[in-house]
Amino acid sequence: MLGMMMNTPLLISSILRHAETYHGTTEVVSKTVEGPIHRYTYADMARRSRKLANALSRLGLEFGDRVGTLAWNGYRHMELYYGVSGSGFVCHTINPRLFREQIAFIIEHAADKAIFADLSFVPILEALADHLKGMKAVVVMTDAAHMPKSEILPNLVCYETLIDGESDVFDWPEFDENTASGLCYTSGTTGDPKGVLYSHRSSVLHGMAIAMPDVLCVSASDAVVPVVPMFHVNAWGIPFAAPMTGAKLVMPGPNLDGASLHALFEAEGVTFTAGVPTVWLGLLDWMDAHGKTFTTLNRVAIGGSASPPIMISRFNRLGVKVRHAWGMTETSPVGLAATLLPKHEALSTEEKLMLEAKQGRPVYGMEFRIEGADGNPIPRDGKAFGAMMVRGPWVAAGYYNMDESSAHEKPGWFNTGDVVTMDTDGFVQIVDRTKDVVKSGGEWISSIELENIAQAHPAIKEAAVVAKPDPRWSERPVLVVVLKPGHSFTRHDMVDLYTGKIAKWSIPDDVIVVDELPHTATGKLLKTAIRQIVLDEYAR
Ligand code: ADP
Repeated sequence: MLGMMMNTPLLISSILRHAETYHGTTEVVSKTVEGPIHRYTYADMARRSRKLANALSRLGLEFGDRVGTLAWNGYRHMELYYGVSGSGFVCHTINPRLFREQIAFIIEHAADKAIFADLSFVPILEALADHLKGMKAVVVMTDAAHMPKSEILPNLVCYETLIDGESDVFDWPEFDENTASGLCYTSGTTGDPKGVLYSHRSSVLHGMAIAMPDVLCVSASDAVVPVVPMFHVNAWGIPFAAPMTGAKLVMPGPNLDGASLHALFEAEGVTFTAGVPTVWLGLLDWMDAHGKTFTTLNRVAIGGSASPPIMISRFNRLGVKVRHAWGMTETSPVGLAATLLPKHEALSTEEKLMLEAKQGRPVYGMEFRIEGADGNPIPRDGKAFGAMMVRGPWVAAGYYNMDESSAHEKPGWFNTGDVVTMDTDGFVQIVDRTKDVVKSGGEWISSIELENIAQAHPAIKEAAVVAKPDPRWSERPVLVVVLKPGHSFTRHDMVDLYTGKIAKWSIPDDVIVVDELPHTATGKLLKTAIRQIVLDEYAR
């Protein structure tokens, strides 16, 4: 017997309608690429998204067509999220930090029918001119006064001109909630980027899930800054969760340095923000150097790569609680959040910190299976580790336009490629990526654990641990560090640092000091390139 409840589809347009109707006066504030701060309300955003929807239909786009964006976090990008997906087209957020060849590959692979780009990305459009020939429109997200003249792309369209004459009346169409809404390619550090095709249903459910108190806890009382870019897994779902809850939305635009972020947080009364550790390192260092504090910020979500415990303590000292969260492009992204339970109140500060530095507990909706080498679930003792598999309504069932290779190795489960432990409360700790763990003499050494310890040393600005081939042990760990100005760090210092903290055999064999560590387009340590640095060093 079926339930007798209404089967209204979970559509992205319903979020915008809700925000307009019940949070219409709540502000959306954006630091623009052109320079000034722009402010308007959810009601304005909804009105302009409808104008955009009318403009898109006039361009002759068809249901399901992909529309590419190359843009920072800002109000026009929000209008695209809603105008494009709400109309039944697919909002394909392209990461401008990728290599040009990767961007070209992605545009071709997605078969984008139109592209919208911020003013600062016009040079990328020009470099990709050959790939834009069949587009219905190549639009620069600016006003007529800032419109560039491009000899390579003479037909560039101005966003404001495009929507200017359009009516702000538009009935969002109703369709199956499983319709594709968004497309985001994984960074592709190995092989070509792979497209994850989100649906309206997955995006709405994920948006609701991340707003829950023990996940990111987004509410109408918040002023939220997604520092994580909208081209990076939909800014972790905040562009959906904020209008859903009525939180004030503050968009940082292109300036993600410490000084700019701090100024924005203070000026806009920001209470909650989210981003990757690299960005927070920049902010915390800048604040230390300038003796600054926060007036309103009380929570920060850290994810994308592991938050070193020291980063959590530094935020705590500034009165800011850290929500460490785990996710992947394939999981929309949020699947775990490290929020303590009531019983943890009794723990010491240090013990709490160790738990908060774990990747977190399962968010309702996501199921986890941690498999040992024998394919059986590992004991949930926080010690045994295995491969983490997930499933749920916002986990990718396959990749866009990739047949055989996109089938999951274990039917019904997505293998995250993370090697983890899980304790009795469900707290997961990443031991390593399957491909980054150092396999020494049959034992696994977690590069992340060694990095966290190094990261806490006063001389070290950034640390990476990678495997170097070893004839006897097969692999041995090597520490690669960037030092803070005026500091030194020797092999002797390294041995001192690790002694007593980890088993002797897992202490790295050596330390290499470099000026800079390579990162992926999404700000993560690029382990393949760091392994090469180590190989080159030993080849000398
Ligand atoms: P995204 O583009 O969302 O960062 P990727 O697919 O490139 O997604 O990377 C996902 C991987 O990033 C995860 O499998 C995990 O290894 C790593 N990751 C994400 N969040 C965390 C975290 N909080 N701690 C450690 N690693 C993390």
